[in-house]
Amino acid sequence: MIATINPATGETVKTFDPASDDDIEKALALGAETARTYRSTTFAQRAQWMRATADLLEAEADDVAAMMTLEMGKTLASAKGEVLKCAKGFRYYADNAEEMLADEPADSAAVDASQAYARYQPIGVVLAIMPWNFPLWQAVRFAAPALMAGNVGLLKHASNVPQSALYLADVIRRGGFPEGCFQTLLIGAGAVESVLRDPRVAAATLTGSEPAGRSVAAIAGDEVKHTVLELGGSDPFVVMPSADLDAAVSTAVTARVQNNGQSCIAAKRFIVHTDVYDEFAAKFVDAMKALTVGDPTDPDTDVGPLATDQGRADVEELVADAVERGAETLCGGTRLDGPGWYYPPTVIAGITPEMRMYTEEVFGPVAGLYRAADVDEALDIANATDFGLGSNAWTTDAAEVDRFIADLDAGQVFINGMTVSYPELPFGGTRRSGTGRELAAHGIREFCNVKTVWIG
Ligand code: NDP
Repeated sequence: MIATINPATGETVKTFDPASDDDIEKALALGAETARTYRSTTFAQRAQWMRATADLLEAEADDVAAMMTLEMGKTLASAKGEVLKCAKGFRYYADNAEEMLADEPADSAAVDASQAYARYQPIGVVLAIMPWNFPLWQAVRFAAPALMAGNVGLLKHASNVPQSALYLADVIRRGGFPEGCFQTLLIGAGAVESVLRDPRVAAATLTGSEPAGRSVAAIAGDEVKHTVLELGGSDPFVVMPSADLDAAVSTAVTARVQNNGQSCIAAKRFIVHTDVYDEFAAKFVDAMKALTVGDPTDPDTDVGPLATDQGRADVEELVADAVERGAETLCGGTRLDGPGWYYPPTVIAGITPEMRMYTEEVFGPVAGLYRAADVDEALDIANATDFGLGSNAWTTDAAEVDRFIADLDAGQVFINGMTVSYPELPFGGTRRSGTGRELAAHGIREFCNVKTVWIG
């Protein structure tokens, strides 16, 4: 069902008819037709539309934030922050895309040419399959670079955020982009295959779960189409004795409960050196307990509901598995009574390799606490999952900093901080966390034909 269901109450607010075969055909035809002309627009023209879109997002931020909170339960403050971040993302690519995609000269004499260079050209229609957790930012992270590169976007958003999906296409259109540059298709996951196999679709990007990524990558592989995959993570957050412990605790809380605990780059496993473990654990548990769980529209709320009933059931299952096998619940661990899909900030200690939490991602406000004897053991635990998205290490020891940068097996390492996606930095993972990169120059080049030009 494609619907807005309020996670704070469980009430179905609005349902939407999925796109018919005819609607899908029209969108594909329009996308392909638009791609043919849009690729010839100038960077200056695209940048002007980007900035106009950013202006609209800023002007409409309060209303858009309320819609996002209604659809997936994030607090109003974080929803508004997300809208403003999207505006920033549009401006960043408006300012930088032309330089990022400038011709790259080669040594022409070495290749017997009078001129030789690489040119970045758009590839056409790109299908974006996006998740609900950051309903605007996940899609903008794709849309802003794609549009500046001269590509055309087709968005299949998660079925529980249809209003956010429709809004994004609408605001981009009102920003001045030609019709067809960025369309939302209200389709379920089952309709993705035929769209992806359509010859008018050149490539795909997916942010979401591993099974969804595997399925889309398999179909795209069969069609020899490029994909960027941004899948799950179970990011480690290592704390060593030299760290500023209070800062580490406070950041650890934010890193775990941001977005009601539903972020791929949330720190999920807290690996603490034995010398500071007890102190860290006591302060961390106190801070997690002190958070206010409740109505996401209330400004005093720190943690709202989980986005879906199923999401909460998944979290409960992972916690129950750990507890049954002997883990200790230091706080939380039981769903809140009443309507809405609330789950409290939870800290679990004593997690061992046979528990699912040791290797699986918990997509809710549940922190796993681990004790490590030294850097080697901390790295062993940190790298013990199949994920490799973000990673965090807290230390002021220069040799340890070098060691964590070198040996944390992840696409990103943040020292004395938490993982954040910045337009200026590449974003992506290793191993089962995905392939390719979003953001920065790396992100905009993913969906370009890098054309070799040789002139004799
Ligand atoms: P999904 O991966 O199921 O959903 C993400 C997007 O992929 C949605 O648009 C969904 O559509 C679509 N999708 C799902 N299955 C397929 C498929 N087989 N082929 C094509 N498209 C598909 O995530 P969930 O919302 O179910 O969350 C489950 C888990 O995924 C979470 O617990 C978390 O581990 C991970 N996740 C990771 C995110 C991240 O930021 N990396 C974001 C969200 C989830 P539809 O909604 O119509 O099913």
